[in-house]
Order: sequence, then structure tokens, then C-alpha cells
Amino acid sequence: MGFLRFGVISTAALALLGTLGFGAYEYGESPASQLFGATLVSGPADRHVVALTFDDGPNPPYTNGILAVLERERVHATFFVVGRAVAAYPAVVRREVRDGDAIGNHTWDHGHLLVLDASQIQRSLELTNDAIVRAAGTHTTLMRPPFGARDWFVLAQARRLGYTPVMWSVPLAGDWENPPPGVIAARILRYVRNGSIIVLHDGNQGILCDRAEPHLCDRSGSVAATRMIVEALKGRGYRFVTIPELIRLHA
Ligand SMILES: [Zn+2]
Repeated sequence: MGFLRFGVISTAALALLGTLGFGAYEYGESPASQLFGATLVSGPADRHVVALTFDDGPNPPYTNGILAVLERERVHATFFVVGRAVAAYPAVVRREVRDGDAIGNHTWDHGHLLVLDASQIQRSLELTNDAIVRAAGTHTTLMRPPFGARDWFVLAQARRLGYTPVMWSVPLAGDWENPPPGVIAARILRYVRNGSIIVLHDGNQGILCDRAEPHLCDRSGSVAATRMIVEALKGRGYRFVTIPELIRLHA
């Protein structure tokens, strides 16, 4: 079934490429695109707020490093967690929730949702939600598709299951490639404006990092960049909100 759907998508993508050219495909897949259905991309432009989000964890000790920065700076963020890592490191998610941070669903194993059928998408989101409930006693109605990959079908399934799909407005900083923290921070800070949603990575696609090569999981640059970004944006007078708080500002 998954294969079948992939075939349909491939054919549709090829047709789109042939007819409209690569620009149209890029437009559809860009994080801000609403071509395949509504997603949250940013908050209100008239509020001096930003939302920090972290994908692909939990990944101790780096997630704990980020939490220490957030606690010290007294700001809150939103963590889009991968289910298999939640099941392996529940205490980290418990700490996120205890701190007042928000949790979002980033699927069970960071799979590419475009190749899954409805029941596979549902299972991936539900397994992850169950792991979050077991870890922290809370459930989430936020989801972010891995790789930002979505189409009308994926978004329809997410909404059917009660999720709000959340994208981002600040271009990805490539923090997973471990550039110096100052480079990560500079790449983010130049694009931040009112209502921005920022993405950093505290893990690597939910890999269980105590069983992986250390270089695959090193997110020390993201930890250091988080401190730089928070300090710089505080200096610009921004208030940090979680994604649920950002959504309430929209209402
Ligand atoms: Zn991810």
C-alpha cells in the first residue's frame, strides 16, 4: 500500500515537473507553501514574539544542554520529538514538560510521510503520542512532518487525527552539519522578525544516540547557538512563546 501510494505520488510529481517546471515543485515543498493545505508557518506580524522549536530529540545530553540554557534564560520552547527516542529517553521529555515547554509530534521514526498510506501515518503519530503520554502525562495536538515533507494527503490525515501541522518561517540553519555555533546563530538571526518560528535540532532523526556513532549525534553546536540566539533576541526585545501560545495570539 505504501509502495502504491509512492507510485501515485511519483507519477503526480513527474507530471507536475513536466507541466509546470521545477519552480512549481519547489513552491509546493517550501516550508511556507500552503499549496497542499494550511499549515502554521509563523505567528502574528504585529506581535514582538518568536517561537523557538527543536526537532529530532530527545537526545541526551544535548537536549538536556538546551533545557539548561532555556531554564537559565527563563524562556520556553517547543520540542518536536521522535517517538522511538521518547520511548528510550522519557525522563528528558518529562523535564521539557515540567519546565513549561511544549511538545509536538515528529512521528515515530522520522519516516518520509509521502510514502506512507493512511493507516501507516496514523500508526506513526499514535505510537508517538502514546510514548509522550507515558513519558510526561500529556498529549499533543501539534505535529511537524519529517523533512517538512507533506502533501494534501498527509495534511488531511494529520488534521483528521486532530493535529495542527507546524512548519517554520526562518530558513533552516543546517545546524545538523555542525558548523560553528556563531555561524548557526548568524544564519538564524538575520531572518528573525515578529512571529518567526525558528527550527534547531537537538537530535538526529530520533536516532538512539547511546547506541550510535558519537559524531552522528553531536548537537553541541545547536546547544551553544541556542544560548547566542536567545541572548541576541532578548537584546532586540523579543518575547519567547511556545507554539500553543503563538496559536492563541492568532485567535
Ligand atoms: Zn526532523
